[in-house]
This record gives sequence, C-alpha cells and structure tokens, in this order.
Amino acid sequence: MKDLPQGHENHFVHRIGWLRAAVLGANDGIVSTASLIVGVAAASPDWSSIIIAGVAGLIAGAMSMAAGEYISVSSQSDTERADLETERQALEESPETELKELTQIYMARGVDSKLSRQVAAQLMEHDALAAHARDELGISHTVVSRPIQAALTSAATFSVGAILPLAAVAIAPVSYAIPVVFVTSLVSLTLLGAISAYVGGAGIIRAAVRVTVWGTLAMALTAGIGAWFGTVV
Ligand SMILES: [Zn+2]
Repeated sequence: MKDLPQGHENHFVHRIGWLRAAVLGANDGIVSTASLIVGVAAASPDWSSIIIAGVAGLIAGAMSMAAGEYISVSSQSDTERADLETERQALEESPETELKELTQIYMARGVDSKLSRQVAAQLMEHDALAAHARDELGISHTVVSRPIQAALTSAATFSVGAILPLAAVAIAPVSYAIPVVFVTSLVSLTLLGAISAYVGGAGIIRAAVRVTVWGTLAMALTAGIGAWFGTVV
C-alpha cells in the first residue's frame, strides 16, 4: 500500500477487473498461438500447415476463453446471489442478531463497541442488505458480474493477441517463420506487460520481465517438442 499516490488518488483497484481479463486474454492469445505456430514450424516447415494451425489455435483458444470466463463469472454471480438471498432472509427473521453481527464486524476492525453499534444501526436503517453485503460478505454493488460481457471480452482480447504472431508468420518467408514469430511475440508480450503495469500502476520493468520469461519458456518448449516430433515422425 505504500506506493499509492497520496491526496489526489487514482483508484487502480477499480480498473483491475477488466484490465486483468484483457491482459490475460491478449497474453494467452500471443503465447498459445505463437507456441503452436513455432511447434508446427519446427516439425514441418510448410506455410499452409503453419497458417492452418495458427488459425485453428486462434478459434479454439477464443472459444475456450469465452466458455471458461462465462462459466467462472456466472458461477460467481450465482454464489453471490445465493449469499445475498440467505442474508436477506436472516435480516427479515432475526434483525437483532444481524445488528449484533454487524456491530462485531466493526469492533473487530477497531471501532469501540458503542460507536460500532451506532454505525451498524444507522447503516442498517439506511440499507440493511447493502451494509451486510458490503461489510460481511464483501460484495459491493459497484461490482456487478456480467458473464456475457466477460466472455466476449476474453474472446476478443485473445483474438487480438493471437493475430499478432499469425500475421507475422503469414507475411514472413517460411524459412524465417520461427525467429519472426519468436521476436514478434516477445516484443508484443513485453509491450503488453509494460502497458498493463502502467495502466494498473505497478512496476513496469518487473511486469514486462515476468511476461517475457513465461512467453519465452512456452515457445522454447513447443519449438523443442515440434523439432523432436519433426525428426521422429
Ligand atoms: Zn448479516
């Protein structure tokens, strides 16, 4: 927390959700498509096989990202809805117990007992469910889960990432496919890491290095496996 700017605050946490999804999508798109292309190119240096593998990887990856994100976001919102329903019933059936519960939450955070009860009572008078949702369950109303939007965002950002190595290999001579994809992907990954760190207010160099190391590992591994298969088969 020590690096947060003082006074005029930039609320980075509010951007983390969509930023994380977008960066993850693009990152996955670059790494998985580039690795696939490099693997196929190392096994059989044939332009149309490489392009077909890359396009198939783009479509498969985008679909899998969309499905995964849809499932994870909707199950999260189901859980939240169920929790809120339980809380709503509890507030209806035993408001006094709920008032005590909220009071204890504020006391545990360091507010004295009298003031805690006062705060709990006033917040519950204003909007009991919102107060419990926020301070007991950690669900804030500003964070609304949108599964379809999350799915489309992931698929779109994955595709944008995947197009970079695919476009590079499509215009490069076949004999240079591997180095061209390698360099294009590493440059894109480094830029992506730097941009996301900048937007998210984190250390730029560290983020760029992290992303680059993983990208290099993935491509080196598939290139190795592809070359091995190419000589064996
Ligand atoms: Zn409660």
